[in-house]
Amino acid sequence: MAFTPRIDAALRYACAVLEDSQADRLPVDPIAVAASAGISVLPFSQVTQNAAWDPWNLNAALGMSHATTISYPGFCVIYRDEVQDAGRLRWAVAHELGHLFLNHFRDYPDQMSPGFSADSGLEAEADIFARNLLAPVPLVDVIRYNRPRQARAPLFGLSRSAWMRRLETLAEDRSFLSAEMADAVLYPFRSYLLKRRCARCGRVFEDRRDAGRCPGCKGEELEWLLE
Ligand SMILES: [Zn+2]
Ligand SMILES: [Zn+2]
Repeated sequence: MAFTPRIDAALRYACAVLEDSQADRLPVDPIAVAASAGISVLPFSQVTQNAAWDPWNLNAALGMSHATTISYPGFCVIYRDEVQDAGRLRWAVAHELGHLFLNHFRDYPDQMSPGFSADSGLEAEADIFARNLLAPVPLVDVIRYNRPRQARAPLFGLSRSAWMRRLETLAEDRSFLSAEMADAVLYPFRSYLLKRRCARCGRVFEDRRDAGRCPGCKGEELEWLLE
């Protein structure tokens, strides 16, 4: 019987990990997030250079996915650095972090052997974690509300299909999110979200009080920078 994904746990862990990582702009870099949590993430080319290190079943695992996690000698995420698609790599690494932070290796070791497919419920949990790490609901909501045309896959560094899935699951994920969690996710991104450029005089500034007005020329036509 398939394991039922724990949306609430996956979402809570993603919010907490994002907050701890001090990520403050998009796209979220899962390799930096991993580094801040002390998790090693290595490109496959580096592993193949080391003749003494030949993790079991690594080739099979990486044939199935753009990234995988090995648990010996220590937990380590390995990604296929020859892959040029940054969005898919970002997703694959974030998904592996989901397995790690949700303790799938500790609690379901028989499911997590490299080169084998885990239970679909565990995979779904890792995906819930990944989408809420890379495109957290509060950030997606704020940007979509204020700048719907900028709220698109490239801003979050996602593939188009991952972004479509993010939109499909937005309401469900939001139902597990408290106001406190949303505030905690948004807070580190405040400078990023408040940066504006005045269309009249070109001044770039943070609209901290949400005045909607350029402090220089008092122009009211402000562009969101999100860069
Ligand atoms: Zn997985
Ligand atoms: Zn101005």
